[in-house]
Amino acid sequence: MTFRKVPRDAWERLAAGNARFASDAPEHPNTNAYRRLELRSGQEPFAAVLACSDSRVPVEMLFDAGLGDLFVIRTAGGCVDATVTGSLEYAVESLGVSLIVVLSHESCGAIGAAVTSFEDGDLPADLTRVFVEKIAPSVLAAKKSGRSDRAGIEEVHAEVTAEHIMARIPSLQEKVEDGSVGVVAARYRLEDGRVTSVQEHFAG
Ligand SMILES: [Zn+2]
Repeated sequence: MTFRKVPRDAWERLAAGNARFASDAPEHPNTNAYRRLELRSGQEPFAAVLACSDSRVPVEMLFDAGLGDLFVIRTAGGCVDATVTGSLEYAVESLGVSLIVVLSHESCGAIGAAVTSFEDGDLPADLTRVFVEKIAPSVLAAKKSGRSDRAGIEEVHAEVTAEHIMARIPSLQEKVEDGSVGVVAARYRLEDGRVTSVQEHFAG
């Protein structure tokens, strides 16, 4: 499986799986009992994905991936804290993934809450406030770059989150620079099932 050590190949593999999913022709690879038993001795996922907990964004399904293929972290809004960065660092350092995908999506409720909060000038009083605080930098960056429509903010959120992760995990930054790991920011459209890359960090 030579693709494992080549970040671009890992991304192409995910893109191919998403194309099958979006065209209603999934192959459901690596989902049988043999694969499950094969994985008893350990896991070697080829990519890590940080996505939203939204029930409409089931990561393995939309990349037509199976057991042991993807190391997936999902939080509301794909927001990042120390547990998330620690999980990603583990995926890179201990599991040897060659790609991290930061995936936002169409119609994200957490991003919607942040946008509404900005428009109304009100912070939620309950615990959802944390998502507004976490997503605020993305809303501001989108505004600054003139991409302040909802799709634009969702794209910028993936980009800002990817950059934040690289800044927070020095070993990841080094691996991106030496070409052993790639980072892709992407957005998933509910409309047609497609995942579109919006920013890619591949050396060379
Ligand atoms: Zn969401």
